[in-house]
Amino acid sequence: RTDWHPVRIRFRLPPHVPAHAVLCAPTLRVREERLLLDVPYALAVPKPERAGHRIAVAFDWGLNTLLTGGTLHLTDETQPRVLTDAHPLSFRAAGVLAKADRLRIHDERITARIDQLRTLITSRQERGVRPDPLLVAKLAVLQTERERVAKRRTRLNAALAKAAARFMTDHARAAGASVIYLEDLRDMEARGKGRTLNTRLSQTVRGAIVTHVRHTAAAHGIAVVIVPPRGTSKYCPRCLNKFRHHKAPDDRAAGWAWATCPNEACGYSTGRDNAAWQRIGARGLTHQHTTRLDRTAGTFVIRAVVEALDRASQVQHQTRDRTKSRPTTRRPAPGKRRRVPAPPGRA
Ligand SMILES: [Zn+2]
Repeated sequence: RTDWHPVRIRFRLPPHVPAHAVLCAPTLRVREERLLLDVPYALAVPKPERAGHRIAVAFDWGLNTLLTGGTLHLTDETQPRVLTDAHPLSFRAAGVLAKADRLRIHDERITARIDQLRTLITSRQERGVRPDPLLVAKLAVLQTERERVAKRRTRLNAALAKAAARFMTDHARAAGASVIYLEDLRDMEARGKGRTLNTRLSQTVRGAIVTHVRHTAAAHGIAVVIVPPRGTSKYCPRCLNKFRHHKAPDDRAAGWAWATCPNEACGYSTGRDNAAWQRIGARGLTHQHTTRLDRTAGTFVIRAVVEALDRASQVQHQTRDRTKSRPTTRRPAPGKRRRVPAPPGRA
């Protein structure tokens, strides 16, 4: 300590640090002959609550659309009702998912090639022959390529998780919601949704999305609650009759994507995912007092569905439902546009 002496460092706080932030002890780093100062700061935020929510946003995991969701309200009556405008919000990541898929296929090909080369090299070594230097060089190139692809996939997944979390938190803030309800990922295998979903997006990535949304939401005092998904897309959110699933609004053949309520008094017809988030949200809002904190995962969960509560959680639509009811009319195909400038005098 005799060698210690105090140093005063003046620094300016960047504008994104709020004035009421509490600064913590800084860390000094030297990088490329420059002194860097890491200053962590703490912000007081409201604690996410387990129950007592009146406005919620709920999201359902989908196949083509990664997340479909919307806002729901709980009324103040003695028998609270769940209301929604049924306006769906969707997070599409088709481009990112396609890129992830291409990288996965590329990775599989490289791995197969590496295995082949290894077999060739070791079989020569076993016979006491020196392996072909060309093969050894090829193997080295492929191994660096595999590492590069693995890094690229990790970065892409992290970016996707952050974007999805941001999307959910921003919508919750815009709607003034204090809670985000999400489906339980573990039960999806049981629902037959698992395998198809997993080829598109691994369980790990979906887990990362949940972790990210918990953190981004916590910064605004918004709770994230995991809801059991049992039967969420099976029943009509308005009258709780069993849905009939078919291919499209105009195709009555049994299928996956579309759901129509057979109850004539109701007749609700909507996309499968759009029906599911309404059920998830209603289930979450009516099961608030059964919400528990899972200590190992650190998340709020609703473990079991109470039949009596679930039966009562009909969703009432406040305004005219503007969900899609027929297929999109054909638009002119891209690529038929003129590729060369119009001839002079005709432009
Ligand atoms: Zn119905």
